[in-house]
Amino acid sequence: MTTQSTAQETTRAWVDVDLGALVRNGAALQRHAGVPLVPMVKADAYGLGAVACARALERLDPLAFGVATVREVEELRAAGIGRRIYVFSPLLPEEFAAARAVRAVPTLGDPAAIAAWVQGGGGPWHLSIETGMHRAGLRWDLVGLVADLVRAHPPEGAFTHFHSAEHNDGSLERQETRFREALAALPVMPALLHAQNSAAIVRRAESPWSFVRPGVFLYGVGSGPGAALHPEPVAHIRVRVLELHDLQDGDTVSYSASWRAVGPRRVATLGIGYADGYRRALGNRGPALLHGVCTTVAGLVTMDMTMIDVTDLACRVGDVVTLLGRDGSELITVEELAVFADFMSPYELLTGLRQRLPRRHHEAVA
Ligand SMILES: *Cc1c(COP(=O)(O)O)cnc(C)c1O
Repeated sequence: MTTQSTAQETTRAWVDVDLGALVRNGAALQRHAGVPLVPMVKADAYGLGAVACARALERLDPLAFGVATVREVEELRAAGIGRRIYVFSPLLPEEFAAARAVRAVPTLGDPAAIAAWVQGGGGPWHLSIETGMHRAGLRWDLVGLVADLVRAHPPEGAFTHFHSAEHNDGSLERQETRFREALAALPVMPALLHAQNSAAIVRRAESPWSFVRPGVFLYGVGSGPGAALHPEPVAHIRVRVLELHDLQDGDTVSYSASWRAVGPRRVATLGIGYADGYRRALGNRGPALLHGVCTTVAGLVTMDMTMIDVTDLACRVGDVVTLLGRDGSELITVEELAVFADFMSPYELLTGLRQRLPRRHHEAVA
């Protein structure tokens, strides 16, 4: 399972992906929910490598995988993943042939699209029921519109998606009531009913549905300090020290000279920048771990390089600095880094890591 790493991959900056932690996060959710998983591996498994993550998660015998596009199904099929794969963004009828060719299971809510799918060769499909997010699916109080289609070509499953499962605002319960109303109005009850994303799994004890659809929790992002379950970190951003600079009182660092040395200081130049997905908002703020000690980004993040303050720290050219994840007993979580990056979404931070950072998949990351 471990990707053979080449020296080249670790000369500059990379992401260590802990597949053991990924699988343990999935196992914890499965135990908690008491039903099978359909791990969401869309967007290249939230930026961590869809093929490697899906292969590792196969150990949990998931019911299927979830993605967003037919291209993502094609990639998993090409890598030999044979399990069922659901596509959770609506497909246009012109994509149906490509979807069938790779045994993708579409999730459909538009009556015309459903008619086109079942009449154009059919195959398993899931009915997408919209209960409050107004993004995709058929409104819960309009499922009568597809009663005839559902009777003639019953979907394998039906589902909805929560818009605020991480908030205790009553919306999850309201959406579930609408989902149940829609199901009751169907002429045939589909075999597989599903609704819960990570936050909704963690929020309640056992799942009342057939399976759960976790995404972000698998990849090490929890739903807050009060949650019943916390994930292990999975992604670790590592970067090499390329140069060291000794500064004198008043010297400045990076564009716009926003960091100024007070007395003699030493900064290390790291081989990572915003073109790697290390956000510019982390300038003068981002935490960095060097030999298990925490320090801070000095000055603005540039496209390809970022400086950190290493005054009084033992630091040599070639040392490995951790900008996300664990180093010794110190840990920078995705949520923390996202807060430092101007309160951005942890989802956006992870999926924003660029291909210039090789993903190195391991069974265990120290
Ligand atoms: C992305 C997605 C999920 C997973 O959501 P997380 O918050 O990452 O757990 C579940 N269901 C659907 C339909 C999705 O698009």
